Amino acid sequence: MRGGWPLPAAVCASAIIVAMFLPWMLVVALGALGWLVLRVRTDLLRAEDETLDLLRRLRSARSDDERAEQLRRVLDAAGTPIIATDADGVITAASRSASRTLGGGRRLIGVRFDELFTQPELHEMERLARAGEPGRARLKMPVEGELRTLVVSADSLDRGSGCVVTLRDVTELVKASELKADFAANASHELRTPIASIRGAAETIQGPARNDPAMLERLTGMISSNAARLEALVNDLLDLSRLESGETPPSLSEVDLREVFEHQREQFEPTCKRKDLRVEFDIDPVVSRIRTDPVLLDLILRNLVENATKFAREGTPVVLAARPESIPPDPVNPPPAGADLPMGVRITVRDEGIGIPIAHQQRIFERFYQVDRARTGGSVQRGTGLGLAIVKHATRRLGGTVGVDSVYQQGTTMIVELPRCADRPAPHHGVSRPHEDGDGSR
Ligand code: ADP
Repeated sequence: MRGGWPLPAAVCASAIIVAMFLPWMLVVALGALGWLVLRVRTDLLRAEDETLDLLRRLRSARSDDERAEQLRRVLDAAGTPIIATDADGVITAASRSASRTLGGGRRLIGVRFDELFTQPELHEMERLARAGEPGRARLKMPVEGELRTLVVSADSLDRGSGCVVTLRDVTELVKASELKADFAANASHELRTPIASIRGAAETIQGPARNDPAMLERLTGMISSNAARLEALVNDLLDLSRLESGETPPSLSEVDLREVFEHQREQFEPTCKRKDLRVEFDIDPVVSRIRTDPVLLDLILRNLVENATKFAREGTPVVLAARPESIPPDPVNPPPAGADLPMGVRITVRDEGIGIPIAHQQRIFERFYQVDRARTGGSVQRGTGLGLAIVKHATRRLGGTVGVDSVYQQGTTMIVELPRCADRPAPHHGVSRPHEDGDGSR
């Protein structure tokens, strides 16, 4: 309400007082009263309009702020470096990821785009995008001290008013597709060799060797050993792809380790007989029963025992041992659901064989890696180079790790550690003899 009404109010008040004595003054008083009401109403209406206008302006200012805040949140949530520049190439907005990875955590708004990057191709892209020519390129550049591969897109805002540059890190994607291509090349190479041998032998049988019994026998033997090699390769490839796809989660049940070890001994009996090897067990009673996936455990042990018996020197022992071990679960690769026992188990497979030179020890877990193909003997003995990759993946699926301890020309111990699969020893009295179960049996 504004000024202007005190006068009619005063006139009205004095008219009422006088009207008490002079009736004609009553008319004047009523007129003044009407004027007063009119005045107050006009002022009230004007004040209401002003308040509404103020509120409208306040609301619009708040929604501008909100929109800016929302935009900032969207940029940050993208998790990718995104930078917007104005018509002069000065940064006007940057996602959190951009300031963290490209700006070392500092505020980028107000910095010139070409001061932030040293790559001339990037400057050019940003300049062209500002001029209305968007672009896209794959660049290698250092990010947080590491050379990374980035897909950069520069898009124009309204012609001449600036641009938005997005830098997507595709390093892992590129690595994965390179690995996939390597794997396909290796697998086809490994498969092609036995196929070519089988084909050659079959063609010779149909041709020159048709009537030569000695030659026929040699060639059919060749076909059979190469078919066995193909079968081994295909089985290993299937095991590996099943493990990598992670389709079926591990299925845990109680497993008797002695029975599992016994099963391995039976499987490799022919090799052991031929090389006069003794397969011995050394199982701590605390872990005689563990809770794990029996199929994965069998896959792990089968590959390790196969290698141990293959590379062991004649007449030596191959020892399968198990001990309780406190193994903290790895947060990056946690144990499977349901693996909740307090202790872990450490399983070792030890041989006294040719050993692995130290320079090769870290690489033996790679797919198709073989230290020296000549060492593995004839084609019957030759492995696929996939065994330890299968062991690594199967162990990972159980939340565990695999390692190697080997001395060249002396022997190898492969170590598998699985968390959360064993109970604590029951409290007992008397002297503890943890190794009394080790039987050294043949
Ligand atoms: P392979 O099918 O050739 O055995 P693996 O992946 O199982 O493939 O093993 C990779 C390589 O590691 C083998 O070719 C061999 O050179 C080496 N290796 C694995 N286990 C042993 C071992 N117990 N003793 C010596 N060398 C081993």
